[in-house]
Amino acid sequence: MTALRIKNLQKTYANGTQALKGIDLTVEAGDFYALLGPNGAGKTTVIGIVTSLINKSGGEVEIFGHSIDDDLAAAKSCIGLVPQEINLNLWERVENIVVNQAGYYGLPRKLAQERAEKYLRTLRLWDRRNDIARTLSGGMKRRLMIARALVHEPKLLILDEPTAGVDIEIRRFMWDFLREINAAGTTIILTTHYLEEAESLCRDVAIIDDGRIIEDAPMSTVLRKLQREIIVLSLSEVMKEVPRLDNYEMLLREDNDLEVAIEPSHNLNDLFRQLNERNITVVSMRNKTNRLEELFMGLIEKKSNSAAKDPS
Ligand code: ADP
Repeated sequence: MTALRIKNLQKTYANGTQALKGIDLTVEAGDFYALLGPNGAGKTTVIGIVTSLINKSGGEVEIFGHSIDDDLAAAKSCIGLVPQEINLNLWERVENIVVNQAGYYGLPRKLAQERAEKYLRTLRLWDRRNDIARTLSGGMKRRLMIARALVHEPKLLILDEPTAGVDIEIRRFMWDFLREINAAGTTIILTTHYLEEAESLCRDVAIIDDGRIIEDAPMSTVLRKLQREIIVLSLSEVMKEVPRLDNYEMLLREDNDLEVAIEPSHNLNDLFRQLNERNITVVSMRNKTNRLEELFMGLIEKKSNSAAKDPS
């Protein structure tokens, strides 16, 4: 069974921004799927369309076989959403927030109360059930949004940056919780800025850049690409354009530092020989530490290199 099928999805916002340029994506039932990409890539737009908060400009979306065009209510009932922004009614009691959400899905009140207790207990919020949401910490508010998203026991749970700004202990707790509900059968799609999060939780991953899917593969395949390392060179002189060196992918940053991808087959002597030949002086060198950015940079460059080589 397919949990989510997206075909040629397009979105142009009213101001003319083409946020999605024809996206195809399939997520199988039971999967734990990561949607990654740099800021502005289009992840939130995809999630917004799938959860019918944003209207698409073209293409098709099916959730567990229900098209959002023909069968929106059925499609929506399959989904639970944990949005990026905290969007709780901060003056409402914690338990009521969850119980009232169940009402939107037509659950009888008694069942809603049972479910609210179940999820507030597992998410360690039951002690706080009578407090208003405003008094909760940031991590608690995120967990409350998860409880709210689960109260109708959706088959597909979508989380947009679920652990942003949450401390390490709570993050680990949330990871364990998400693993458990995935093992129990819930399909999960998440976006994250932490590669460690996607690495630790997700089986499959799609990477979006500039409104297009640039990678769609098992997590293990994508991680193998990280054998390359990015080093950052500070240069003594301002460069107008990226120097052309044989065999190296490079990026000139706005601060005039040069990022160079070092593959296992490379050696630094060769890199510096080529820089010397071009009279480029390196003042200092450091490793780039954000592995997720390294991954994006590698994939985006590979794509633009192959586009440059492809005469079509
Ligand atoms: P991500 O979630 O990957 O950061 P988004 O889906 O939020 O990316 O944004 C994709 C693109 O669409 C960006 O260029 C963003 O500026 C633009 N965008 C997002 N929302 C709107 C909007 N309501 N109106 C106009 N442009 C938007």
